[in-house]
Amino acid sequence: MKTELIEIQSKDLRTAAGREILDRAAKLLQDGEVVAFPTETVYGLGADGMHASASAKIYAAKGRPSDNPLILHIAKFEQLSGIVSEISENARKLMEAFWPGPMTIILAKHPSVPLETTGGLSTVAVRMPSHPVARELILRSGLPIAAPSANRSGRPSPTTAAHVMEDMEGRIPLILDGGKVGIGIESTIIDMTGEKPVILRPGYITPAMIEEVVSGVSIDPAILGGPMAAELKPKAPGMKYRHYAPAGDMFLVEGESGQVIKKINALVKEKQSEGYKTGIIGTTENINQYCADIIRDLGSRIEPVKIAANLYGTLREMDQLGVQVIYGESFEEGEFYGAIRNRILKAAGYQIIKV
Ligand code: AMP
Ligand code: MG
Repeated sequence: MKTELIEIQSKDLRTAAGREILDRAAKLLQDGEVVAFPTETVYGLGADGMHASASAKIYAAKGRPSDNPLILHIAKFEQLSGIVSEISENARKLMEAFWPGPMTIILAKHPSVPLETTGGLSTVAVRMPSHPVARELILRSGLPIAAPSANRSGRPSPTTAAHVMEDMEGRIPLILDGGKVGIGIESTIIDMTGEKPVILRPGYITPAMIEEVVSGVSIDPAILGGPMAAELKPKAPGMKYRHYAPAGDMFLVEGESGQVIKKINALVKEKQSEGYKTGIIGTTENINQYCADIIRDLGSRIEPVKIAANLYGTLREMDQLGVQVIYGESFEEGEFYGAIRNRILKAAGYQIIKV
């Protein structure tokens, strides 16, 4: 299959040419095909979520295990009635506060949502993205669009159309190129099948932001990392897989920053002497003190939002440059840093060196 890459910026949506592109993409979705498109979090791999045969194509293109459910993307509140069976008062409050935006809500599914879309679960994940191209595409298709991140399973999520092309060339007919995404990590997933919000995946929307709208927020203990978490089963099936990972072997080094720098440089020296190509992923505060084959700065520690936006692209760059061993600085738990810590721990397969 030939994969077409078409550029479309939000401003193009007002032009006839832009509308034509979206009509074509929407038609492909209506015909049960797969289209990659930008959202504010990461690029999504979309298909008609109400037809098992269409969502099957997503699983095939990604090489995704069939027990890992998809998120249904909507553009209007009216679309909810066909996909969930009940919305609690608290769930509605969260929707009103955070939609459209980077929040996914788990609710009891409507019988018409195929089990193939929900990985066999009786619940369904729903999100209303804010990216204008995503919204317009969903509106024009008239469908709830099942869309996981547009990477091959296990690879870092794509934050540019070029990343999607890297993973999906020859596997899907169309990629809409809306440029680099804004947030760069996946949506916050909240289980609202109970009374109180339970965070199943940390993201841009933090526990404190949720607490302001609905009190009593908790975090699924399985996603916090650490030795204990390895034995717990995450409530979001996708969180159990090694994920977001570069091809190189990655380690995080944790501790006081002076010690961390020293340790990373020593480890790099050792690996270089064994003939490995080495990489370091650090932060602006420390970056000038490192020595390795490839060194990348994620951004300043006081701007975690920028760090998140650069993370996946940097992991992919390490792959493109053939880096075999990667050492990364770590991040503490806590509000937005929790999302970064969660992703970077998974990228490193929980390999942590403490100093
Ligand atoms: P992705 O779209 O690639 O970010 O993956 C979707 C994430 O949502 C995965 O981690 C899934 O396991 C999770 N997810 C989707 N549906 C459900 C559900 N019904 N219950 C719990 N987690 C879900
Ligand atoms: Mg994903």
